[in-house]
Order: sequence, then C-alpha cells, then structure tokens
Amino acid sequence: MDGESSAQMIGMRRVFARLANGNATRRVQFGLAERRTALLALRRTIRAHEREIIDALASDFGKPPSETRLTEILPVQTEISHALRNLRRWMRPRRVRTTRAMLGTRGRILPQPKGTALIIAPWNYPLALSLGPLVSALAAGCAAVVKPSELAPASAAILSEILTDALPEDLTVCLEGGPEIAQSLLDLPFDHVFFTGSPRVGALVAERVGRRLGSVTLELGGKSPVIVGPNADLKQAARMIVWGKFANAGQTCIAPDHVFVAKSIEAPFLAELKAAVAKMYGRDEAAQAASRDFARIIDFKHFARLTEMIAQAQGSGARALTGGPSDAETRYIPPTILMGTDPDMAVEREEIFGPVLPVIPFVRLDTVLDRIEAGPRPLALYIFERDRAVIDHVASRAISGALGINVVLAHFLHLNLPFGGIGRSGQGAAHGEWGFRAFSHEKAILETRFAPLRLLMPPYRGSRKRLTKIMTRILGR
Ligand code: NAD
Repeated sequence: MDGESSAQMIGMRRVFARLANGNATRRVQFGLAERRTALLALRRTIRAHEREIIDALASDFGKPPSETRLTEILPVQTEISHALRNLRRWMRPRRVRTTRAMLGTRGRILPQPKGTALIIAPWNYPLALSLGPLVSALAAGCAAVVKPSELAPASAAILSEILTDALPEDLTVCLEGGPEIAQSLLDLPFDHVFFTGSPRVGALVAERVGRRLGSVTLELGGKSPVIVGPNADLKQAARMIVWGKFANAGQTCIAPDHVFVAKSIEAPFLAELKAAVAKMYGRDEAAQAASRDFARIIDFKHFARLTEMIAQAQGSGARALTGGPSDAETRYIPPTILMGTDPDMAVEREEIFGPVLPVIPFVRLDTVLDRIEAGPRPLALYIFERDRAVIDHVASRAISGALGINVVLAHFLHLNLPFGGIGRSGQGAAHGEWGFRAFSHEKAILETRFAPLRLLMPPYRGSRKRLTKIMTRILGR
C-alpha cells in the first residue's frame, strides 16, 4: 500500500468509526421520531437541489430534464413518503401465532437496525440508486456510507452536497471514488452491504463480504427479455417497449433487452415499433440526433462497446429497422432496432445496456421459454398479450426477478412489490418494506408464561420417560 492509499484507508476507518460510534449513542434514541426527522430533512434537501440534480445528470450523460424528474427525483421522493407513512407499522414488533409444540409461550419478531451500512451505487441512475437504498437504511435505523459511481462525477458531487446538507456526519457520509475505494470499504466490518451494479462486480463484492461473513444485498443486471404474443395490442406494446428501451438511452437495468415477437404478427409489429420511435424521438436520423428527450452514453468505453456490438451484428447479416450514424464526440448512439440477429452475436449474448433492440421472431412460445430457462435468470421479463391463458402460462413457467404484463419498467415504482433479482440478476430485495427489511435484523423473541418445558428435562425415568414418548408422538403428528 502506498502513502496515498494508506492515508485513504485511515480516513475511511475514521469515517467508519464515527458512524459506528454514532450508532452506539443513537441506539436508544433513534426511534420513529428521529428516523422521520432524517427522512424529512432528506426530502427537503433534495427538493431544494432539484435544479442542480437536473444539471448534474445533463452534464454526466445528457440526461433529459423530464427523465431526471421522472426516474431520479420521483422514485426517491415516493420512497421517502412511503416510508414516512408506513414506518410506524414496519417498526412494530410482530406477534406470531403460537405453534402446538410451543403452547404456554409467546413469540414476537422485533426488527432491529443491522448497524452500519455500506451502499455501493452504479452510474446509470446515480441519484435514485444511491438515495433509494439510503432511505431504506435510515428507515431501518442504520447509519450509512454511500459510495456513488466514479463514472457520473457531477451526480456524485451533488449527492455528496445533499447528504452533507441534510444529515449529520455521524449518520451518513458520501465517499466518492472508484473500485479501489469500494474495495477498501468492503474490508471494513460494515453490518450490511447493499450493492447495485453489474453481475461481474457483484460476484467480487459477495466474495469479499463473504470472507468475513457479512450480509449483503445484490441488485444486479443481465438481459431482460420481452415476449410479444400473437394477440398483443401491437400499438400499445410498441410504444411501451420503445419508451422502456430508449429512456436513459437504454442504460437501465430493467430495460427491455431484446424482443421475441410471434412470427404471425412480426411485420405489423415492426411497423408499429418504427412509428413509435418516430413519434417519440423524431421521423429521421437528423431529428433523432437533435431530440432533447434522448440521453447520451455514459463514457467512451461503453460507446465503443455498443458501436462494436452493432457493427458486429450488421457485419454478420443483421439489418437495422431504425438507427444510423453514431457520434463518438458526443457519445450519441441513435435508437437502433435490429432484425436478423442470431444467438452467436454479442447483442444476443451479453447485456446490451444501451439503445439497441434486437427483435427476434418465434413460432412456438415454449421454445422462447426454454431459451430463457437455459440462460441466467432475468431481472425482469415482460409479456405483451391479451390471451389470459398465454399470460398465465408465461407467469407460471418462467422464473425471473419480476414479470411485467403489458407494461415495462413501472414495477420499479410500485413500492408494495419487492424489487430484486434471482441468481445472476441479484439476491435480496429493495423498496418499501423489503428495503426496510434488507437493513433490519428480524430478532426472534420467545417468552414463556408457564413452564411445561421443565417436565421434559432429565432424568428421563418413569413418568418423564413416558411423557417424552407421548409428547414426541402427539406433537410430531
Ligand atoms: P459496476 O458493477 O461496474 O459498478 C457499480 C459500482 O461498483 C460502482 O460504484 C463502482 O465504482 C463499483 N466497482 C466497480 N468495480 C469494482 C470492484 N472491482 N470492486 C468493488 N467495487 C467496484 O456497474 P455499473 O456499470 O455502474 O452499472 C451497470 C450495471 O448495473 C448493469 O449490469 C446493470 O444492469 C446493473 N444495474 C442493476 C440495477 C438493479 O437495481 N438491479 C440497477 C442499475 C444497474
């Protein structure tokens, strides 16, 4: 370790100690009122910084102001309001029913703050995915370090300012920096690590935290497929898919990654897709490039990855329904819809995470479901269809973090639904009460009122021996 990084490590240890000490003194008083005060302060401060948030995201990747309002500010504000409304209930100890073998006892579950949390966030929704988990951490009564992504530096700076203004420094700290900072933080004994990012880094985080048996929530990514069935409302499906795919220029963990469309309706569906792109982003390449409602790619590395993906697909026979020239300088890639891709191409193998949408025709729905089942479990799966039997078949067969029926993305905003993946798309869940639980330990409390248990203690002779036999037989039924 060189001089600079050892000084950094000392700094981080100090921050950790400050939060842990804060927790120790707060333990008794960080009740409902104090948690609500923290959440209200956060809400107020975000409101006061709205303009700077919009400017920061525009500077990081040309994110349109309305998208920033809808997908950065709104989700955090609703998460706060939801927590404020429900926190009293979430915090209450829950009585559980007494089981037969436990007659004479009383059981309760008491949620307690896990302690000091580390939140590592990605760049693609730099505010929502840092502050959302922080709301859950504060609601649960935890202190937290937030480590935003180095790839969205203007957003990280405004996040840091918001946290400094809103919350005491022994409750929340924003530490900016890249993977090295994240790794050093991971070695500190945080009581919970909440990671949002790629499956590759998620595995590294899980391994590092696992070494010290720490607890972890992993919100990861992958390919989220869409199925457009033979009886779908094609106009509605096309509009939803185009909106969900090209918002944030496709850099959304639950964006439709690719579309499987029933062969019988492929041609009219493609026409609707094209019309939807024209309506939302402009009729031709020039109009689309000038659209103020379309974001840019976060950095040159991702720009190069995506343009290479498109070139490789087109070089091997894929055709573009919409698209056109990209611009490296502004990191602009037009809304690109590809036909004629195949499973060997990178667009069909890797998470796309950009404004590129392969459309793949199918004849039998079960072959699509087999293909989905053979791959890593998706974070989200979407089906557009009006036939209930088809919807029910997909809902019961496919395993995914979430299922959207005739809708994409919106489940992220429904705070009474858990948000999370399964397998390679994640572990654990966020949002609303699930977020609160991620940062809470559910302590089991058992109390005896009278004590039949003492009849079951040794020495096991005579009546006691008979009793153990009878009990085992009766209660084991
Ligand atoms: P990333 O995994 O590259 O980075 C995420 C965070 O981890 C950043 O803060 C980064 O600094 C840190 N990091 C990077 N390398 C690290 C290392 N070796 N050790 C420790 N920390 C490290 O992800 P990204 O590019 O910022 O985000 C895109 C990915 O995130 C996509 O795969 C997307 O699907 C996923 N994602 C998931 C969700 C969700 O809620 N499930 C939301 C948004 C994004």
